[in-house]
Amino acid sequence: MAELKGVLLDLDGTLANTEDYNYSYAKGVKTEELIEYKLYEFFKPILKVVTWGEFIELFKQAQKSVKLELKGTAASHNRYLYIQKTLELCGVNFVPDIIQRAVDYYFEVMLKRTELYPGVIEVLKCFKYNQLKTCMITDFTADIQIKKIRKLGIMKYIDYMVTSEEAGSDKPNTDQPILALKKLGLSQDEVVMIGNNPKTDIQMAVAMDIRSFLFDPRKLYPEGGYGETFYLQDFSKIPALLNLPTRKYSRKKMLIIDFVGTLTNERNMIEEVLSTFIHKDPAYVSATYKLFRQGDIGEPEFWYRLGIGEIKKAHKAIAASITIRKSVITVLKRLSQEYDLVLLTDFPGQWGRSIMEERGIANLFSDMIFGNDTTFQKPDRALYKYLLQKYSTVNPENITLIDDNPAALLSGREFLMHTILVGNAKEGQIFVPDAVIEDFIEVEFVLKKREKLNR
Ligand SMILES: [Mg+2]
Repeated sequence: MAELKGVLLDLDGTLANTEDYNYSYAKGVKTEELIEYKLYEFFKPILKVVTWGEFIELFKQAQKSVKLELKGTAASHNRYLYIQKTLELCGVNFVPDIIQRAVDYYFEVMLKRTELYPGVIEVLKCFKYNQLKTCMITDFTADIQIKKIRKLGIMKYIDYMVTSEEAGSDKPNTDQPILALKKLGLSQDEVVMIGNNPKTDIQMAVAMDIRSFLFDPRKLYPEGGYGETFYLQDFSKIPALLNLPTRKYSRKKMLIIDFVGTLTNERNMIEEVLSTFIHKDPAYVSATYKLFRQGDIGEPEFWYRLGIGEIKKAHKAIAASITIRKSVITVLKRLSQEYDLVLLTDFPGQWGRSIMEERGIANLFSDMIFGNDTTFQKPDRALYKYLLQKYSTVNPENITLIDDNPAALLSGREFLMHTILVGNAKEGQIFVPDAVIEDFIEVEFVLKKREKLNR
């Protein structure tokens, strides 16, 4: 079985109680609490003599005919259509202002009551803390689902959403998971599907050969009756069934800081550092530097290829070409009182360690990871996975990455890290960080603002 890399999640009735007050799904709910009853009350002044019993019959009839006419599409869930048709069945002429207000009211009532089921947030966090990608796949239109997710406040833990409006069809058609896997960049054996509806969620997963969880909190279905991989009534059992460890984190906050271009005035290793004393074609220097950084050639070979005989002299030349930005030391000193500082750079340790010590920066960092300390290079996701393993007691949500390389920030963001881009992104690299700063000294300001928001 392939390694688990992602999770497909249904929304309604799986993560949240959005269906619990619907006439067709409600169990043990008082009539007055039903969302359709609220709608009936809204219509009372207009429909005058129509009773609740008559109204719900007409509403059900309207819903049924819309679902039939638009079978398998997102529009089949459109409340505008249900309400318009209900009024038509009551013999009320076309009343657009009333229809619109009724739909707004319907969703206002629904959103007010929309809540996550117990244990859901912890499980979503567990997915992300275990570096899984998440995609919601859900029958309905994008506008309503986005409103629900905003209300639930879970956007941080959901990487993507696919609605039947976007994919073109409702479950169990496989358009939604196919699009979801494309967005995630994963194959069907690398994900699991979690859903509450055997006829849509589970049937679709079975058709796609995707492992599935039938979440049935109200015990509506027989266990094992639909080909699901796991049947459960308790959402919080999911991590254990997937062998995902639940992590305990300290309250520690960490800054992971890049070196070249972030702490230094120089942004380009080849043009601004190496080419200051190596007089060869920059493309050749760059290619040779790459071989060295990848560990394909050792340091003596590197300098030999560049026509430099004395390594010590070369080290001195590198140190001389590097200037640390003004105020960096003062700022790092202050930051180190509140955060653990970790240097993370592709810059080779043979050169970097002594520079950091000579400039009085090394002792401000609790750890320094140079290019040749790991087998990974930015922006490899594996480098960030390695970090999370190394600092396994630090909550990734309490880690801020500070880097001038947008691709590196993107990799960290996937693991929930906060991202600060230094300087403007190079052309052709589109990534929207949490904050952009021109100079490293602005970091404190950004962090303070974030602390305020988190409080
Ligand atoms: Mg559902």
